[in-house]
Amino acid sequence: MTEDLDPIRNVQVISTGTVDIHPQHAYGSRTPSYWWILTSRRWLTSRPINVFVIEHRDGLVLFDTGQDRASVTDRDYFPSGPLGWFYARLARFNIEPHETLPAQLEQIGYAASDVEVAVLSHLHQDHIGGLPHLQGTRIVIADTEYAMLNSRLDEARGVLSRHIDLPGLEWDQIRFQPLDDPDIAPFTHGVDLMSDRSMILLPTPGHTPGSLSMLVRRPGHDPLLMVGDLTYDAAAMQHDHVLPGVGSHRQLQESTRQVLELQRRHPGLRILGAHDPAAQAALTSPHQQHSPAA
Ligand SMILES: [Zn+2]
Repeated sequence: MTEDLDPIRNVQVISTGTVDIHPQHAYGSRTPSYWWILTSRRWLTSRPINVFVIEHRDGLVLFDTGQDRASVTDRDYFPSGPLGWFYARLARFNIEPHETLPAQLEQIGYAASDVEVAVLSHLHQDHIGGLPHLQGTRIVIADTEYAMLNSRLDEARGVLSRHIDLPGLEWDQIRFQPLDDPDIAPFTHGVDLMSDRSMILLPTPGHTPGSLSMLVRRPGHDPLLMVGDLTYDAAAMQHDHVLPGVGSHRQLQESTRQVLELQRRHPGLRILGAHDPAAQAALTSPHQQHSPAA
């Protein structure tokens, strides 16, 4: 591939407000998650709610869609009763009028109606918030994640189906297939999003059963891996193998192992979390020479 064969023109990140979470959420805990969610008095400093914006030759692509401002202005957005209290204990949001998905896109010269494809890393509220603005967009989701929609206990599992299953949305449920692409190893399965190998969706379950990541490859650029909520701190994951405290620990461990192995094979790989304060700098820092891994 040469530079002029690069179908991607630009990759940017915007944020739909900020979220506060507990340290146990980001860095794990010895106690069960329900316990620290109910009792933790500590909150980390506010983190971004990242939406990655990829300008592709065939149209604008989003990775995740952020949190809906209605969640802080509409008192009926979250479930009521004990479940609502649980949601309030899990995360605190701040979203100003200029931080909605359409407003953030406008600041970089786009309208929500320009979005051709929106990939959802998973179905939690802070990743699906832009859906009301994405009628006519191809909404891509792993079939295993989509299965949680309108399922029993969906809200207890963090899936607010009534804000996701909206009229007019065009869902594209994907199933991971064996991919003949040695550069994604140790991953063996994936989905080639635009059929040109520039963006590959990879299964990284753990945070939720159908969580996925997206590998973005461009000639002359370090590869990017957008990982959703697989990690809240890529540096801690890389250097200390720290895992978050939410989701299936066993699956988080296995997905993290695969991501770190992918990075060992591609030392320039930049791991971009949805709420990692370092993700923006990781995306925009200049390309460096990397010696191949031994
Ligand atoms: Zn999230």
